[in-house]
Amino acid sequence: MRCYFCLQERPGSEEHVFPLAIGGTIVTDRVCKPCNDQLGSQVDSCLTDHLLCKVKRAGLGLAGNARRTPNPLVEMLAKAVLAEDPTKRMEVRDNGRGGITVKHAYHEAVQTDDQGNTFKMVTIDASRPNDVLKILDRHRKRSNIPLLTDAEKTDILARLPDAIKTIEQPGLIGQFTVDLQEFQRGIVKIAYELACMWLDDTYLDSATAAEIRNLIFAPAEDIVKHDLTNIQIGVLRPLQAWGETSLDHVAYGFVEKGVTIIAVRVFDVFSAAMAVAMPGDGTVPKPWRGSFLSINPATGSTCQSNWPEAIETRTRRHRPLVPQRKRKGR
Ligand SMILES: [Zn+2]
Repeated sequence: MRCYFCLQERPGSEEHVFPLAIGGTIVTDRVCKPCNDQLGSQVDSCLTDHLLCKVKRAGLGLAGNARRTPNPLVEMLAKAVLAEDPTKRMEVRDNGRGGITVKHAYHEAVQTDDQGNTFKMVTIDASRPNDVLKILDRHRKRSNIPLLTDAEKTDILARLPDAIKTIEQPGLIGQFTVDLQEFQRGIVKIAYELACMWLDDTYLDSATAAEIRNLIFAPAEDIVKHDLTNIQIGVLRPLQAWGETSLDHVAYGFVEKGVTIIAVRVFDVFSAAMAVAMPGDGTVPKPWRGSFLSINPATGSTCQSNWPEAIETRTRRHRPLVPQRKRKGR
């Protein structure tokens, strides 16, 4: 078979058009193993690991290839500090039940008392009392002070409860980044693979197909300014006809004024309308009235149709979707 990406005659592999990690169930065998691996690590991951996708995956319990359901809270609070004292870093971990555990990270600060003595103030989480002894011995060793005796250790452990400081309802200040560009290559890939599946095989040799293949691996900023694509966070018309409450992945293709357009919606967070073939490409099989598919990511059930009635019914109240082509030479 001829690979959709390298165009070489190579054995096929199982490629999920909508990635498995987001509950995609449509598969093609027209992508060779090397191209499939490259898509997985450089393209699909940009989409499936996007914070907004992780929130949806967590809600639906979608583990994906890693067999681990993401916990977006852990990511959002990875660099969290204590609101009451922002110099104190917190350790936020997944508790295995979709929630988090928060512990005080090791913290030390040099302080001077009234008599001018300099000492180190160490703060650790109250759940790790035995760490106090290890920390003290480590500092003693470094300063050439004799290590703690057993009697001293017992004494210190006995005095620890008085040193515990409790903060009622502590607040955390998190810091996280949300990608606005990289995820787009994942959406372009979905639209391209659907174009390959839905159109005639000669499509692979068209100028537009070559342009899209380059775009999938191009720097993200090139995708953003590319005039074939209209991709956004949030739902484009008429993809909003599938409702803000449905999480279904939706895609459909149609021809408008000779331009073949594929619209893609991923959960209810990303959507795109992409011109996948231009009039000069001559790749639209006739008669092609359009194709439609939707995937329920929770159940994996799919709906596929060769007729656009589903689209017309759902979108009757919405304007036709035509990409905004930039005018050249201005
Ligand atoms: Zn290939």
